[in-house]
Amino acid sequence: MSIKLIAGNWKMNTSLEEANQLIDEIIKNLEDGDLSAEKKVAIIPPFPFIDLVLNKIKTIPNFYVGAQDCSPFDNGAYTGDVSAKMLKSLGVEYCIIGHSERRLHHQETNLTLSEKVEQALNNDIRPIFCCGENLEIREANQHIEFILKQLYDGLFFLPKEKIVKTIIAYEPIWAIGTGKTATSQQAQEMHAAIRNEISKNYGAEIGTYFTILYGGSCNAKNAAELFACPDVDGGLIGGASLNAADFLKIIKSLPKK
Ligand code: PEP
Repeated sequence: MSIKLIAGNWKMNTSLEEANQLIDEIIKNLEDGDLSAEKKVAIIPPFPFIDLVLNKIKTIPNFYVGAQDCSPFDNGAYTGDVSAKMLKSLGVEYCIIGHSERRLHHQETNLTLSEKVEQALNNDIRPIFCCGENLEIREANQHIEFILKQLYDGLFFLPKEKIVKTIIAYEPIWAIGTGKTATSQQAQEMHAAIRNEISKNYGAEIGTYFTILYGGSCNAKNAAELFACPDVDGGLIGGASLNAADFLKIIKSLPKK
């Protein structure tokens, strides 16, 4: 059985004070059984607040902090970049790589993404590799082919011992921040196709245990239905992770599979 994960991507939101309040509110309202070795939670704040959040959650088992990106370079004269090595030295567990907002606004290519994946893994950080099609591709019924190509380009070059450390987030671009969620049938179809391809390349055992998240307007109301899909192992949550009550409801929506 795969490990479940709910990851809250705060994107470029919150001030220092708001970040403080939000994480305090989440911690205060966590209940026994919300987190376990099979059901983990990660907060993915903006870089400047990583240390703040880490210090608050570090004694809570199965609660982690992630980064929203990392540099494709090791270290050196790359002004503005944040290296995977720096993130690891703070205690970061996960790193989002290939979010559609970075592919769009920072023109990130598949080559760059594969370099970021390597950087994260070389520093013992688990990449949350994002893939997602736009509406045009979905309407042309080319979505599965498109997503699998993104995975072959950005991730499937990894050997077995590295692929098992990664997580995939399927995030249809037309659903991100739009309030338009994929139906559970659409999510399940894509997640099953992704799992099948992992099994084909790396064997059925790795396929079965692989964590595949859904992201795209997942909220307190629709989370339970999406997470009930057999191949959906949790969510990458944007907007709804900025509201502690909603985020907690989403955490509690994970079925005790
Ligand atoms: C995201 O950006 O990863 C995301 C899923 O955003 P939202 O939940 O706001 O659609």
